[in-house]
Amino acid sequence: MKNYQRSSALFAAAQQVIPGGVNSPVRAFKSVGGDPIFVKQAKGAYLYDEDGNRLIDYINSWGPMVLGHAYEPVVDAVIEKTKLGTSFGMPTEIETTIAELAVAMVPNIDKIRFVNSGTEACMSAVRLARGFTGKDKIIKFAGCYHGHSDAFLIQAGSGAVTFGHPNSPGVTAGTAKDTLLARYNDLDSVREIIAANTGEIACVIIEPVAGNMGCIPPRTGFLEGLRELCDTHKILLIFDEVMTGFRLAAGGVQELLGIRADIVTFGKVIGGGLPVGAFAARNEIMEYLAPLGPVYQAGTLSGNPLAMAAGLAMLTELHNKPEIFKSLEEKTKYLHQGIATTLEKHGVIHTINRLGSMISVHFAPDAVVDFESSAQGNNETFKKFFHGMLAQGIYIAPSAFETWFITDALTYADLDETIAAVNVVAQTL
Ligand SMILES: *Cc1c(COP(=O)(O)O)cnc(C)c1O
Repeated sequence: MKNYQRSSALFAAAQQVIPGGVNSPVRAFKSVGGDPIFVKQAKGAYLYDEDGNRLIDYINSWGPMVLGHAYEPVVDAVIEKTKLGTSFGMPTEIETTIAELAVAMVPNIDKIRFVNSGTEACMSAVRLARGFTGKDKIIKFAGCYHGHSDAFLIQAGSGAVTFGHPNSPGVTAGTAKDTLLARYNDLDSVREIIAANTGEIACVIIEPVAGNMGCIPPRTGFLEGLRELCDTHKILLIFDEVMTGFRLAAGGVQELLGIRADIVTFGKVIGGGLPVGAFAARNEIMEYLAPLGPVYQAGTLSGNPLAMAAGLAMLTELHNKPEIFKSLEEKTKYLHQGIATTLEKHGVIHTINRLGSMISVHFAPDAVVDFESSAQGNNETFKKFFHGMLAQGIYIAPSAFETWFITDALTYADLDETIAAVNVVAQTL
């Protein structure tokens, strides 16, 4: 059993000066109880906390550290860049270099613009879609998360749901009325909304593999059907690949499942652990953006040289070593099988969803295919599971609505250690 005393003391101090002691709500352990762990440093697949515990990390900064913490090519690139100055607010060559690489890796995009977070990327993508189509309404799916900007905080999955505010106060009725809610994996729900709002819908935004209500892969034909509906009704299809981009394949879900999006958003992996987001599309759409076109979007620190250096180092590794995606998938599959066998052995009711290196364990009896079925999971069992795993030195996300993010830094010995921990914890569930 691990001791987390110093973390608890640091949390008490943080709560005096930071709301809830955290700068992003899901870091608090509100839905599982207890105090969050304060991390001191990390290397590869391991976190080292302020109490001196080593934890195997299945969050990996919520996705970015797909090659592990303190990954040397990324760290070195940032150190070298830092010596040359940290921000200029002027164009730099590295912005073109990473843009060229991203455009080469991702299908169906000609141009990309860099911002500072996934939230900013999605917010800007929707503005661009509205400007391009001249229409106001957007369709999103219950349980999908696209960052915390107003238009998206309507049944937004993970963090928002964990805190029991599916629709955040502070979002005006005017904004909310332009966001129409469909059901994930349910094309009919989209058809109905389109029929009731003919000619008014600018875009459909979706996590093409959902990751913020657990991991929910799209049903066969669902994304294809969406593509067709969007084409028929002249609606832009936005793939929010903030989580899946550069994780499920070098070209994200567009490449993995062979489906074309009109606008794609990125975050997480694209920044190699520094604050980076991006949105991209074909020329016709991107040329609507200022300074070429009328849709305004800007950022003092956008394309920041340190962030670009980290992102470029990360994408270069993924580009040069495509076998990483296979390796990630095989490790995740091994973990999936190990956990499933162990939970079955102990008679624990569960459903495990997985695609590539995204996996989630639901203590739910039935298939988890949308937000409603994800919410059927037993949160009391999840809480016990979470704290049990933590006591064994395994760090998974402190919410039943989160995906586990597998890093290639995990060894098979780490995976076996994790499965052994599940074996201990399952006996207490
Ligand atoms: C994390 C996430 C976002 C928001 O990105 P931030 O960098 O946290 O603003 C948007 N969409 C998806 C799918 C995400 O997983």
